Amino acid sequence: GIEVGTPVSVPFGRMKLITGYVVGFSHYVEPGIRVKEIADILDEQPLFDVDFLQFLDWVAQYYATPLMTVLSTALPTSIVQKTKREVILESVTLSSEYTYSLPRHVQQILAYLKGSAKSHKGIGIRYLSTQTGLPLRLVNQSLYKLRQDGLVRIQSRTKAGMGQKTMKWLRVLPKSENHSLTKRQGEILDRLSQLPSPEMKLTDASTLAQTTTATLQKLADQGCIEIFEAPEHRDRLLVNHFSAPKLSTPLILNEEQERAVESVLSAEPGASRLLYGVTGSGKTEVYLSLTQSMLAEGKSILVLVPEISLTSHLAKRFIERFGREQIALWHSQLSAGEKVDTWRRIHNGDLKIMIGARSAIFTPIQNLGLIILDEAHDGSFKQDSPAPRYHAVTLAKEMAKRYDAKVLLGSATPDVEIYYQALQDKAVLRLDKRYGGRSLAEVSLVDMRQTKASGGRGTLSAELKLALEETLHLGQQAIILLNRRGFYTLIVCNECEEVFQCPHCAVALTYHRYREQVRCHYCGYEAEKPAFCPKCASFNLQFTGMGTQRLEEEIAQCLPDARILRLDSDVMQKKFAHREIFDAFDRHEADILIGTQMVAKGLDIANVTLVGVVNADTAFSLPDYKAAERGFQLLTQVAGRAGRGDQKGRVIVQSLQPSHPVILRAQAQDYEGFYQDELVRRQEFGFPPFSQLFRMIASCTDELKLRQFMDVLAISLKHILEEATLQQVVQVLGPAPCIITRIQGRYRYHMMIKNTYGDVAHQIITRFFKGVEPPQDINFFLDVDAQSFL
Ligand code: ADP
Ligand code: ZN
Ligand code: ZN
Repeated sequence: GIEVGTPVSVPFGRMKLITGYVVGFSHYVEPGIRVKEIADILDEQPLFDVDFLQFLDWVAQYYATPLMTVLSTALPTSIVQKTKREVILESVTLSSEYTYSLPRHVQQILAYLKGSAKSHKGIGIRYLSTQTGLPLRLVNQSLYKLRQDGLVRIQSRTKAGMGQKTMKWLRVLPKSENHSLTKRQGEILDRLSQLPSPEMKLTDASTLAQTTTATLQKLADQGCIEIFEAPEHRDRLLVNHFSAPKLSTPLILNEEQERAVESVLSAEPGASRLLYGVTGSGKTEVYLSLTQSMLAEGKSILVLVPEISLTSHLAKRFIERFGREQIALWHSQLSAGEKVDTWRRIHNGDLKIMIGARSAIFTPIQNLGLIILDEAHDGSFKQDSPAPRYHAVTLAKEMAKRYDAKVLLGSATPDVEIYYQALQDKAVLRLDKRYGGRSLAEVSLVDMRQTKASGGRGTLSAELKLALEETLHLGQQAIILLNRRGFYTLIVCNECEEVFQCPHCAVALTYHRYREQVRCHYCGYEAEKPAFCPKCASFNLQFTGMGTQRLEEEIAQCLPDARILRLDSDVMQKKFAHREIFDAFDRHEADILIGTQMVAKGLDIANVTLVGVVNADTAFSLPDYKAAERGFQLLTQVAGRAGRGDQKGRVIVQSLQPSHPVILRAQAQDYEGFYQDELVRRQEFGFPPFSQLFRMIASCTDELKLRQFMDVLAISLKHILEEATLQQVVQVLGPAPCIITRIQGRYRYHMMIKNTYGDVAHQIITRFFKGVEPPQDINFFLDVDAQSFL
């Protein structure tokens, strides 16, 4: 009968049915618990097996999240909710003896099925219930019996719009002399055989050959071409951007690359390796080679990448090497239908390579051999919200151990934590040189304090302006990066230095010029542009900071002939817009690309020889233990973007703190030096890798109540730690107001816990958290391995 992983519908309360999954069986029920019957089986095919369930349960334990929450994160909801179950009668001739032995309602159902058997179509189970007037539960019971007797088959069919779609395709057959063709038909056949691919969609073919599908059908009848049906997989990204790729041939690896590949292949199952190499050192080529070896062994490969734009960049290399047929792309912009299709094909083992963002870790990839995480240091591998607040690197390592797979983390600027761990495990693989002996870009610093002091109000230094002119003059391209924090235009009073803030959130309001409005980016509060300072009534207001839009205007003023493209979150809202912008820039349809962090990664354009960083400092000014690391990573990444072609690149970094040690290390592109500095600081303050950070966050509209709640919490946690004599090794900090003290009228407090005592303390902390029952109006959650502290 029923197996683990089967999605079922169960009664909830008196009227409602909710979706759940079978996670186990028990003969014993604790007293006081009322057992209910399953109302409906939503899919005969289990969605996960016991191994995967155990993995998800581990996730639930580690992050102190209910298993059901993890399950709903892991399984695309549309896969269950949109399925419709149908029953098909397998045998029409039944002995009357058998029929009469059945209970009345089963007979009734059988009779109905026989009556409609001619249509050969499945009958929906809910429909069956309404038609026979029998309750769903009884229908299900009866069908269960009939199925056991081999009389009916039950199948899931995804509802209209979700089902597998097919498309008509055309294949041009090898030429044979055919004298019965008309002149016109001969012409069309000629045109078809000149098209780049011998196989194409029928509709495309008719457009390209300037004919009708009816005419093509006639050609097919005459045996000149073949028309066939193929499943249409709904993934616009694959279809739109990677049509009919020319396959690339594997390169001959250099010694370092060869050694890296060998090391991963010969590592014991479950092991992790760090591939540490600057941008352009040939990491991707290592991934491709490993993938090749895994495929040869019949294994599947999971490739995780930080962002959708990068997804497509790396995906392109994979698709060019391995073709489109065995590759799946998994990202947040897939529609429900696309998700279901992809999920099913992965589940069935049709797709061997899965490339996706963080959540792809949960896809049911079969026979997993290797998990690659490219740009493994990237912050987007950690889910911030909602629960489970998981880290893809942590999950990948756990998964590899459970499935005897291997993990390869690739990075030019590994996390201090990851690097530290890899050094300990002797698992660092280095690619020391840029491929083909290309040198790294030269980084120069511009001291913006002097510019400001000399009365310069502009955001572009003279150096950067000149460099832009030179670059454009040579027909080359430039990228200008603006830090996200400086992305906002703030309003400051010149008299009293008041920064205009949101009345609900205590974060600075941003000014939007085109609408003459101020807006809060946390709660969405909007107001007219203020005319005077609310504090001192001065009319002398200053608009500081700068958005990409204003930067664009300023650059357009100095360089009137430059063609400029802009990439920021406004543009990102349009699906795939970023990809189009990258592509247009790649085709040299613009000279300058302006954008926030997004432009720093995943862009490999040979003609880019200049990168300008307009406000380098803002990256370091966040009160966050990872701020220095993130700043360093950003500057290094951006430097890696310049000069990937034959020309040498240069980077100009504008800074108000040009002697900041992290800026200097980044200028020298000295990761080792940065790592040593940072490790000392981390050790001194007891931050990861010297501890594990937990963050408990609570919010409430009533600040006093919130404060009291958190105080009590801190006291009881400290008490528990003392009982376990762990107060020396587990430190509780706070409670304190969060950096963003209010969001949407709710006050926010947090409490930080530094654990240096491993799993034992981890369990104590998560158990404590699960035991807390916050009052109705207090939101309370735990972030294990917290990375964000706003
Ligand atoms: P990364 O992923 O580290 O940025 P890539 O794998 O993209 O580096 O390699 C950078 C460039 O060098 C690419 O254009 C790639 O084709 C080339 N390259 C890498 N390895 C080799 C090799 N073994 N032989 C020839 N070219 C290579
Ligand atoms: Zn003022
Ligand atoms: Zn607000």
